[in-house]
Amino acid sequence: MKISFLGAARTVTGSCYVVDCELARFAIDCGLHQGNRAIELRNWDENNIYLPESLDFILLTHAHIDHSGLLPRFVAQGFGGPVYATAPTKDLLGIMLEDSARIQETEAKWRSTKKLRAGDPPVEPLYTVEEAQQALAQLQIQEYNQTFEPKPGIRVVYRDAGHILGSAFIEVWIKESGQEQKLVFSGDLGRPNQLLVPNPQTVETADFLFLESTYGGRNHKNETQSRDELAQAVDYSYRRGEKVIIPAFAVERTQELLYSFYLLRQEGRLPADMPVYVDSPLAIKATEIFRRHWDYYDHKTKELVKQGENPLDLPNLRFTLTTDESRAINTSSKPAVVIAGSGMANAGRIKHHLRHNIWKPGASIVFVGFQAVGTPGRRIVEGARSVRLLGDELSVKARIFTIGGFSGHAGQTQILDWLSHFRNPNLQVYLVHGEHSGQKVLAELIREKFDLTVHIPDYLDEYLLEKDGRFELTVRPTLAAPRIDWEYLLEETSTKLTQVQDRVSYLKQMGQTNQVEIRGDILDINAKFTSILSELLFEQKQHNHQE
Ligand SMILES: [Zn+2]
Ligand SMILES: [Zn+2]
Repeated sequence: MKISFLGAARTVTGSCYVVDCELARFAIDCGLHQGNRAIELRNWDENNIYLPESLDFILLTHAHIDHSGLLPRFVAQGFGGPVYATAPTKDLLGIMLEDSARIQETEAKWRSTKKLRAGDPPVEPLYTVEEAQQALAQLQIQEYNQTFEPKPGIRVVYRDAGHILGSAFIEVWIKESGQEQKLVFSGDLGRPNQLLVPNPQTVETADFLFLESTYGGRNHKNETQSRDELAQAVDYSYRRGEKVIIPAFAVERTQELLYSFYLLRQEGRLPADMPVYVDSPLAIKATEIFRRHWDYYDHKTKELVKQGENPLDLPNLRFTLTTDESRAINTSSKPAVVIAGSGMANAGRIKHHLRHNIWKPGASIVFVGFQAVGTPGRRIVEGARSVRLLGDELSVKARIFTIGGFSGHAGQTQILDWLSHFRNPNLQVYLVHGEHSGQKVLAELIREKFDLTVHIPDYLDEYLLEKDGRFELTVRPTLAAPRIDWEYLLEETSTKLTQVQDRVSYLKQMGQTNQVEIRGDILDINAKFTSILSELLFEQKQHNHQE
């Protein structure tokens, strides 16, 4: 039996593991690769590594796009088998895959216009809305804790991973040559004591565990005071007659926030005349799905629902679907809470709300999720005095809150706690879904604490899964190494430089802090170019010498 790591290996996106055994070839997850250009090229599968038409079935852990986003493409390329998922996952995919397809179509259209102008052929989208709909038709609902056999000789059980509504980790038993081996795929493992979803279930045995390691390198900060901090932001802006602006992801994060506001209201910490707006069509649809699947909530929340309560509702909750409604929020001068996407303030309606509020001393901006380098969210969190949004240079005068307790992933200690339930000493652990630096830290801790064998597979690595700690490794380095289009890349660099040069007069008009910051960035770029050039000159000398 062999496993191939076709994504989320030494990185966090593109989760896809393919198992080849005597009885079948199947995949666990088929996520979209997200990040830089080289990583995103993997979505196009130019090396033909997925071979979707030869897959017998797919097991999906949960609805997040980095675990499910390639499904429409697999189907378009000939995968005709069943895709197993829980009921909430199926419904969430209904909105998320279509949304993802729409983004792909828009992007392709935009690129095509540019290409056509240059006399080049147009660009195809990675997949279309129609293909997303076809993929959805192949989904089959699988409930937690029930054994099923996608193929005779392969038994599967879904367990609650406590990450988002309907998320699962998966136990798989495979018979081969009269022997049975057990594989466990953690999917994304939830943070214990999350609002809404139950704590992750635990397992006691496995021969091979494929364990996520997003927070392998660290724990979450101030998890327990999250609601108090949210209350502080509400109080601060309410007293000053201003708004609380919260950039948040549409699925799970927004619903947890709603639940937190519901609790704040019960505790008398959310004024009745302070409306809470959810200003995101995707978040609104996701919230409807959550409400429908209340039986997947944790015990405490279910009890609330049984008593006739709706923890995702508030008397002063407002859903704004249209852009007109969205705009109207900012024409009102009354205090309010506004939840909108994107979570990192680099796209979507949140940018408008920030533009209207970030310069007001009485407003609050509340960050509840991870802010990636290069996003406006990251700049604000790191204390920038001004930010550029929608073409305006905005002074940051609002109070900034960064709240740690809304993460959907287990922190380092929590991963180790979950792992401590395994009892068999010959368990082999494969760390996936994490940055390599954090994975190395976690691997060392697992070896120290539990004395287990730990592997950190790389992209496209293949492992033979054998009992008693034996394994064999085959790497395909030529495929794994990205092929680089240097001409294209350098043209992009040169275009960008020209664009900056054309705008020097605006650069000079910026605030002093910003000018100094940008100067620092450009000095960094210059330094990198100097070091690249010196390497190239060395290479050139060697080359001339040989000739
Ligand atoms: Zn996830
Ligand atoms: Zn994930």
